[in-house]
Amino acid sequence: MTLFQKIAAREIAADIIAEGEEWIAFRDIEPQAPLHFLVVPKRCIPRINEAKLSDTVLLGTLLAAAASTARQEGVGESGYRIVINNGQDGGETVPHLHVHVLGGRPMNWPPG
Ligand code: AMP
Repeated sequence: MTLFQKIAAREIAADIIAEGEEWIAFRDIEPQAPLHFLVVPKRCIPRINEAKLSDTVLLGTLLAAAASTARQEGVGESGYRIVINNGQDGGETVPHLHVHVLGGRPMNWPPG
């Protein structure tokens, strides 16, 4: 099991804030903004680069879950940023696809 599958299975503790049949959302352990949580599919796709067309529904579900959880956490109106890091240059550190949601402060552009 991956680290994030262990969190979904409650084998590793995390601050879980929302959950659906196919996904889980929990606070990032090293937050980069006042609000920073991850939305993770329970089925492991290692990274977005390995997603297949047959994963389309799950990928859409992750984005909708990110938005609904952001609204739940109170940043729907103020705004937030969604990030997916892919591979070495993208800054990926955990090889289990996850959507970062960051909010609670203005975000810079271009990103670092
Ligand atoms: P990435 O660098 O895009 O692969 O993102 C991995 C994210 O997972 C980082 O922001 C980490 O802080 C976060 N992370 C790693 N371990 C945990 C954990 N046990 N609970 C919550 N977040 C974690």
